[in-house]
This record gives sequence, structure tokens and C-alpha cells, in this order.
Amino acid sequence: MRRRDLYQSLLAAPAMSALSGQVYAQRTTALPPLKITGFKVIATSGGRNYRWIFLKLLTSEPGLYGIGTAGNHFQTHAVITALEKHLGPWLIGKEADRIEDLWQSAHYRTYWRNGPVNNNALAAMDVALWDIKGKRAGMPVYDLLGGKARDAVPCYDHAAGRDMESAVESVRKSIENGFRHIRVQYGEGGYGGGGFIPAGQGNRPEGGYQGLAFDEEMYVDTIPKVFDYVRSKVGFGPKLLHDVHSHLSGINAVELSRRLQPYQLFFLEDVLAPELIQWYRQIRQAATTPQAVGEVFSHPYEYLPLITERLIDYVRCRVSAIGGITQARKVATLCELFGVKTAFQEGGENDPVNQLAAYHVDISSTAFGIQEENGFPPLVHEMLPGTAQIRKGYLYGSGKPGLGVDLNEQVAAKYPLGEIKDGGAYRTDRTLEGAVVRP
Ligand code: MG
Repeated sequence: MRRRDLYQSLLAAPAMSALSGQVYAQRTTALPPLKITGFKVIATSGGRNYRWIFLKLLTSEPGLYGIGTAGNHFQTHAVITALEKHLGPWLIGKEADRIEDLWQSAHYRTYWRNGPVNNNALAAMDVALWDIKGKRAGMPVYDLLGGKARDAVPCYDHAAGRDMESAVESVRKSIENGFRHIRVQYGEGGYGGGGFIPAGQGNRPEGGYQGLAFDEEMYVDTIPKVFDYVRSKVGFGPKLLHDVHSHLSGINAVELSRRLQPYQLFFLEDVLAPELIQWYRQIRQAATTPQAVGEVFSHPYEYLPLITERLIDYVRCRVSAIGGITQARKVATLCELFGVKTAFQEGGENDPVNQLAAYHVDISSTAFGIQEENGFPPLVHEMLPGTAQIRKGYLYGSGKPGLGVDLNEQVAAKYPLGEIKDGGAYRTDRTLEGAVVRP
């Protein structure tokens, strides 16, 4: 700085100091009470076949509102009704600043609590309240949670192949796109692929089920061979993951974990369904393959023993399925104390608001492990300006106050929910003899 500029800046200093004092005085004066004055439930297809549900909470401060997420792909209208007829009317007149009190009272308001529908409604309220509080404070939500504990949020990518070569090709593509963590799925039929007998083939009961048939032993035999091949081609640099999607029963889950051990997975996901979590004790004794579990959990009793007994390595609850940011950060704190990590489930049909709800907990938590990748087309960025972006394997929020995302209602209105066939049910896999396989 030249001497003359320095002199002028010193002359200007008292005025700046007076202004800073004024700003400080404003910031150290308690804010006036803030009431919830209204709500809107906004459902949209997102321009694809999404079934996204957003809750917009309006407040007594003109122009100040929050956006929450209640997406539930399989019970969409149950959640919309829960918001429109039950939670929404109850919220009118409540104090928007009392997030913890509202979470507790909203949780017990239904008397029968937990479960995905109740938790989705609760999460919509909770995430919107954190958005409001952040906007009011002029801070991103992560700053309210203690500030950044890392510079950005690493994500794992999704690779898949119908055969060994295409699996390797898909992994290489993820590496080229900058991902260090890559989930590898295999074969035909989606989750459970590698264990499906093609439609109409195999020895089937007369007049029975003819679709793709899942075979546990075939799956346990196939998947380690896939990882053996992929490792032989890409080496041990990339961190590889695999999602069983709860398709196995107890001892086969133990056996798959044992057989995958030589391939050093970053984690093996949902090797068992929530109904079978007691088997994680046996898995722990048999193998060091890291375990991630929990995307269908909606009750604390499901994840509490797994965390406190250190039976898993990553908890994979979906933020909107366990009640929002308030509950997710408690889970993260619990994980931190027990040396377990978080890997909130954010892929598939998840929306950008839920992705950001997870992002704010992720980036401010010492217990963070990894986040699931989810990229959105330009239309979604137009509908939800401030949607997080993934660049070279890292997720970046907008850095704006609150969640950092807005909802353009005019754009959303152009893409209403589509027709929901068969009630919107999740698909049912079956065995050769036609028995249901847990998803
Ligand atoms: Mg999964």
C-alpha cells in the first residue's frame, strides 16, 4: 500500500469502527419472537419420475421461510396427507426458533411414533426450521452446528456392469470423473444382481413364479469373483464398495463378508435386513470387511445397539427417514463417541433438499465417513436454485445462509406428481419357488 493510501485508510478507520459497533450491537440484541404463520406442501415429479415432497414453512417475518423435505417414494400420499391434515395445522402459531422443543413435541404429538411416514413429516418440519434459523442468523446451517470440520464432503460414485469387463469399464469411468470411492454393482436385475436366475429358467414349481429368481448361494459365489477381477484390473488404489440390499440371510451374510475380505472393501452395505441385525455379532467375529447398514432404519432401537456395541462401521440412515437434521446430528455425535462413522443414504430417488440436510451434518461432524453421490439435471437446478454440486468426487453446498437452496414454485408447478401405479410399491424379488426376498 502506498503511503498516501495508508494515510487515507487510517482517516477512514474511525467511521468503519463505528459501523462495526453498530452491527455488533444489532447482533447482540435478542431477535424478536418468530411465529410459524403458514405452510405449503409442494409435490413434484422433478421433471422425471421422482415423487418429491417439500414443506415450505412461512413465518411472521415477511419474506422469511424455510424449505424442508419429506420425500417418500413408496408412501408418497400418506406423507402428503400427514403434512396437510395433521402436522401443518398443528404448527401454525408455534415458535419457529424452538427447534428442539418442536422436534420433541411433534414427535410425541402422534402418540404412536417413529416409522417412515411420521419421521418424514417430522423431518420436513425440522429441516425447514434449520433453514429458517440459518437465514435469520445469516449463516449456513453447518455454522450453527459448529462450523466446517472438513473442506468439502467426499462422495462415492455408482459403477455397475452386466459382465466383468463392463464393471471394470464403469469403475474406470468413475476414477476418470475424480471419484476415489466407487460402489460396484453387478449383473442383471438391479440389487441382488449376480444372484439372479433368468426369467423362465431353472427348475420351477408347476404354474408358479416365472420372473427373475434370486439365489443366495449363487450371489455369494459370484460377487467375490467380480471383486477379484476388478481388483486385478484397477488395483487396490480405488476404495470399492458393494450394496447387498438386504438380500441375504444370516450365515450367507457372514460368508460373503469373509470371502470379500481379501479385496479390502471400503464397506459392504446392508448385507442383512433390519430384521436380522443380531447377526452382525457373528459377522464381526468372522471377518474385518467394514459394514455399513441402515438405509431403511426408522427407529433408534434399530441403530443404537449396532453403534454402541461397535458392530458396524458406517451408519446409513436416510436423514429424512429418521426425523431430519436434529436427529441426524445426534446420531453423528453418538457415532463419534463410539468410533463409528456416518454414510447417510442419499442416492436414488432422494431430493436436493435432503442431500443438503445431510451435507450440513456431514461437513460439521467429526464422525463423517462418506456421502452417497446424487447428481441432478439442469432442470432440477432451475427448480431448486442452490442445489449442491459434485465436482471431482466432492459435494459443495452453495454457502448461502440456511440450507443454501431455494424452491422455485412456478417451475415445480409445471411438473406435478405423475400417476402412481400399483400404489407406488417397491419391487418384490422372489426365489425360484416363488418366496419373497427381503429388499
Ligand atoms: Mg443401499
